[in-house]
Amino acid sequence: MDVIVIGGGIAGIATAYQLRAAGHRVCVIERHATVAQGATYGHSGVVLPTPLDVWFGPTFLRHGRQSSGGVISKAGWRGQAHAFTKRLGALHGSEAFEARYALLRPLIDSAQAELDDIDGRFQLEYEQRDGLLYLVRGNDEWSLTQPALELLRQFETPHHALSPAECVAFDAAIPADPPFAGGVRFENGRVANCPLFVKLLKQVLDTQGGVQFVTGREVTAIRVESQRAAVDLAPQPNEAGRSRDVDVMSADAVVVAAGAQTPHLLAPFGLKLPAYPLRMHTLNSPVAHEECVPHGTIVDAGKRIVITRMNHRLRISGAAVLLREKEVDEALPESVTEDALALLGEASRDWAPGAARISAALAWEGVKLLSADGLPAVGNVGHPRLFVNAGHGPAGWALALGSAKLIAQQVSNSAPDLPAETIQALWPGRD
Ligand SMILES: Cc1cc2nc3c(=O)[nH]c(=O)nc-3n(C[C@H](O)[C@H](O)[C@H](O)COP(=O)(O)OP(=O)(O)OC[C@H]3O[C@@H](n4cnc5c(N)ncnc54)[C@H](O)[C@@H]3O)c2cc1C
Repeated sequence: MDVIVIGGGIAGIATAYQLRAAGHRVCVIERHATVAQGATYGHSGVVLPTPLDVWFGPTFLRHGRQSSGGVISKAGWRGQAHAFTKRLGALHGSEAFEARYALLRPLIDSAQAELDDIDGRFQLEYEQRDGLLYLVRGNDEWSLTQPALELLRQFETPHHALSPAECVAFDAAIPADPPFAGGVRFENGRVANCPLFVKLLKQVLDTQGGVQFVTGREVTAIRVESQRAAVDLAPQPNEAGRSRDVDVMSADAVVVAAGAQTPHLLAPFGLKLPAYPLRMHTLNSPVAHEECVPHGTIVDAGKRIVITRMNHRLRISGAAVLLREKEVDEALPESVTEDALALLGEASRDWAPGAARISAALAWEGVKLLSADGLPAVGNVGHPRLFVNAGHGPAGWALALGSAKLIAQQVSNSAPDLPAETIQALWPGRD
């Protein structure tokens, strides 16, 4: 079949890869001049989510508690956003959390298997590193973390729960004072450079053939009919500076993997994704004092802020701001951006004092979709020729490899690997 994939982030490139592997001809359309320029660009490196990374569950957005999950509130945060956080609240209980994670788990396993397969086939070097340490500040937060630790044990994920003294002994850059409750250490390689991976996978596709990349073009509309699907591309200025007519590209199916723009492209079909836009922030800072830099990646588990070394800089990422759909392309009020960046600076001073020269850091922000039930939106929806691979949330860039496999199986009409209850839970048409 001929398939159009809209979006050149990790979700789009992973989808193109899996469709090609299933024998289809693919055209990826990306509005930027190259791939990995959206949320994929700003990733903080955590490859696949454990129960400690997911943006739902007992530690996420608990009002009135010390931890608000690293989400910055902003004025006018009512209506839709309020309903969204209320739904997340339903996953605070450990049973609901465990049940939801159990639905996500087969997708994580599938994504891991796909990543291992790609690593084995192509030996890509995308700065994979070992060593990830989650730190928990308060005792209150530590007790809320216990259901996640229970899931790590249940799924036999190799990890070590550490006392504060053991954390400090493991990495001398972590200050013992002020006191904190403890940490969880993972040894296996779980941090890597997502945009680099995307670019290398694109190179693989360029070499293999069968995948065409149309960059610098924006899809303005999708049309599906019984025999064919098509997309309209925004007119390009010609030499005289005037626009030409809209270009139309057609195929047998269309996969929307357009990140935060996905809801906008699906709206004309009356489809509403079960996901909310979230603006995330990054500080890329020069190293201040080399001896103060943690030797692995550190995550403030309560605030969901990641501190990781990337070459000669430290990247501090997190500080989410929930948006309304119409605010996706708008700048945040300056005071909200300042609060977000201050939260990142604070985390860096808390867990790696002296490591980053925050005053010289470059700020970056990007928008992600986060669902209120913690699962991405993946599958066929609205029309037999229309598919979605989006909403992977702020953790789990490699999840897109597993969900892309599902899409390829659905497009090919072949039996899916994932269990039926997971496929149903991922369905983009759910409430
Ligand atoms: C600061 C930050 C830190 C993060 N940290 C992590 C982490 O540690 N671990 C992790 O797993 N995840 C992390 N994430 C999330 C992760 O980066 C995303 O889940 C993932 O990159 C989403 O990929 P995507 O392809 O769905 O979206 P995107 O990367 O946003 O890609 C969508 C693409 O579609 C294109 N597009 C949109 N509309 C159109 C159109 N109409 N026509 C043509 N092209 C279009 C866009 O230009 C874009 O390139 C982080 C995100 C941010 C912002």
